[in-house]
Amino acid sequence: MAMINENYIKLPGSYLFSEIAKRVDAYKAENPDAAIIKLGIGDVTRPLPPAVISSMHKAVDEMADEKTFRGYGPEQGYNFLIEKIIEFDYAPRGISLNIDEVFVSDGSKSDTANFQEIFGLENKIAVTDPVYPVYVDSNVMAGRSGSLGADGKWTDLTYMPCTAENAFIPQLPNEKVDLIYLCFPNNPTGTTISKTELKKWVDYAKDNKSIILYDAAYEAYIQEDDVPHSIYEIEGAKEVAVEFRSFSKNAGFTGTRCSYTVVPKEVLGYTASGEAIELNKLWNRRQTTKFNGVPYIIQKGAEAVYTLEGQQQIKSLVDYYMTNAKIIREGIQSTGIEVFGGVNAPYIWLKTPTGQDSWSFFDKLLHDVNIVGTPGAGFGPSGEGYFRLTAFASKKSTEEAIDRIKTRLKL
Ligand code: PLP
Repeated sequence: MAMINENYIKLPGSYLFSEIAKRVDAYKAENPDAAIIKLGIGDVTRPLPPAVISSMHKAVDEMADEKTFRGYGPEQGYNFLIEKIIEFDYAPRGISLNIDEVFVSDGSKSDTANFQEIFGLENKIAVTDPVYPVYVDSNVMAGRSGSLGADGKWTDLTYMPCTAENAFIPQLPNEKVDLIYLCFPNNPTGTTISKTELKKWVDYAKDNKSIILYDAAYEAYIQEDDVPHSIYEIEGAKEVAVEFRSFSKNAGFTGTRCSYTVVPKEVLGYTASGEAIELNKLWNRRQTTKFNGVPYIIQKGAEAVYTLEGQQQIKSLVDYYMTNAKIIREGIQSTGIEVFGGVNAPYIWLKTPTGQDSWSFFDKLLHDVNIVGTPGAGFGPSGEGYFRLTAFASKKSTEEAIDRIKTRLKL
């Protein structure tokens, strides 16, 4: 008899986006002419930069010629891409990395979900609340979560609330935790962390032999000076942190799939008998066994991000979305609603007005002005009373949405 991993049935269905779709469909059925604008999803809408497209075209032609055809590539990624990653994303910030400390992969979603696999089940996991759900669900699947309480929290996870009261900066936990998921710039709150605050986490991790799993998928959106682009800008972080980066949000690769994960050789985990083991070795073992690399054509596309034109083109993509973020942020602010994020991230996190819960505000926005956003409660208990809008729609739709909110939303 085939027994299943029962941790999977502990997981509630993906309630958030299916519930959103259900409510939008019901509204559309009754109001077929409503021009609904979606500012809910975290997916980009602008096409891939021309430099990426032209590089991928060339790579396609190479695959058609037996002299340049490529079969299986290195599971860790081609050196031509890893060298560029180190040269452009790390060296200018004074961070030196070896080729074998960077692992190219098909997405930060898969890497942030899979990385927990190389750790024992006894580790205590800490997550911010609200949170990108992948960190939590992947640990539930593995069996580290305990059970889901009526308060919406898993009994064995440590939650670090991030709300307006603490300026969305997670406080160090009172109890000892082993694996800490941090994401800055943050999805969903759109807020960031200063170097001083991040240093506290690095010091905590060093003191407790913990590991920080640092998701920097939105790094390209950072505009302000004191915001770290990489956790390795913090002294000592190379001993305790793994960093996840993606081409999804800076270069429009959400459907093309390419990302990378940095695992410095200095980061150590321990056996029960106290022997120190390099996480780099374990992750390399895991990837070479379970992953066969990102397609050559895609890695060639990603490489083009680092050309002069590529750099200019991704900057204008980010600028495009950040202009939307500004339109949303300033427009919402002008209505008197409290707004966070949107300065160094494509997400705007607002406090639902008049004490409404986040689903009531969702309904209000949908019914009054035909705009779809994401209720904060869907990202964790501390997201209740908040609401996320994203800057990824077209500028025209974004302007139209904000105009509607300003003129027609009855608070
Ligand atoms: N990490 C965070 C915080 C995200 O919000 C997302 C996507 O929305 C991802 C990772 C996924 O990135 P990728 O497209 O590289 O899988």
